[in-house]
Amino acid sequence: MSAIPVTIGRRMPLAAASERLDASAQGAGSASGRPVIGDALVDTHGRVHRDLRISLTDRCSLRCTYCMPEQGNEWLAKTSILTLDEIERIARVAAADGITTFRLTGGEPLLRTDIVEVVRRLAAITGPTGAPVEIAMTTNGIRLPELLPGLIEAGLNRLNISIDTLRRDRFHELTRRDRLDDVLEGIAAAGASDLRPLKLNAVAMRDVNDDELVELVEFAIAHDAQMRFIEQMPLDAGHTWDRSRMVTQDEILQALSRRWTLAPVPGRGGAPAARWTLDGGPHSVGVIASVTAPFCGDCDRLRLTADGQLRNCLFSTTEYDVLPILRDGRPADTVDAGVDGMLRSCVHGKLPGHAINDPAFLQPARGMNAIGG
Ligand code: SF4
Repeated sequence: MSAIPVTIGRRMPLAAASERLDASAQGAGSASGRPVIGDALVDTHGRVHRDLRISLTDRCSLRCTYCMPEQGNEWLAKTSILTLDEIERIARVAAADGITTFRLTGGEPLLRTDIVEVVRRLAAITGPTGAPVEIAMTTNGIRLPELLPGLIEAGLNRLNISIDTLRRDRFHELTRRDRLDDVLEGIAAAGASDLRPLKLNAVAMRDVNDDELVELVEFAIAHDAQMRFIEQMPLDAGHTWDRSRMVTQDEILQALSRRWTLAPVPGRGGAPAARWTLDGGPHSVGVIASVTAPFCGDCDRLRLTADGQLRNCLFSTTEYDVLPILRDGRPADTVDAGVDGMLRSCVHGKLPGHAINDPAFLQPARGMNAIGG
């Protein structure tokens, strides 16, 4: 398999990132006015960042049509993939700066051979108050039956599992792999564990799975899990997203309300999913409506790609490269300050929201598998 570096959007050079940070630091943090490790990651719109999504690989055991092309994907170079030590180092600085949740994503994070050790190292990190960070993971579930006991023992707290359809032929067509039984076994293993809340994610797609919404919610309830539907976003590697094919939040709620009485759950905070109780609870359903009901005003998320690029938004076309800071041979005691500076520069550059609904919207060059969900 070839290992060609993926073509990405604009990378912010180190010097420009530091300059921008200096300009933004007036009045914050240390006596000099420059933020230091331990100061919260606050952007220019007042949003405090608490959630770091760490992509561990761009590889996946499936080939979902809305995420990756069937063939010809440009994989990240293996030498550029962050090592266990490098991930831990970035995570420690991020936790000191107020990040309280690490969500492990991919590609498929369970393909990483040192995944249990990644969880163990991150779960041992504490924030400024001494409280442990939370470790969550988004997975396709295929390797859960063999790995879940070790992951839980290592400190995993929460799981989101992707399941777009319960029909074998559809699953095969959509993911280009005949692995539905493996995914169902993974969900069964998660359902039998103590990890809660357990969330199941489906991208709602017109004429693909939009006749299965009720069935998927019933399946989730049977596994003591919460079903969440996601509006399809323009993040596919093939750049084939078509707004008119997207199933909207309104359509999802309409379909579900034919089966249940839905009532909104208050107190969403920075969570991407708005939730509704089903017939008064205790079960609920979530919808992530990034396109028709954006929630960017409360966004507290940053992303780290598997090749060491910090991103302040799923749809950002600028990346902040941490790799040189970790690998350019600078004195060890200045590495953490460099990582901290890059985190702050990334946060400072965050726009108020995505521009999917703007005619001039430019889709990021990276596909979802190389950004991290
Ligand atoms: S689109 Fe970007 S800013 Fe908006 S919620 Fe998603 S990651 Fe946050």
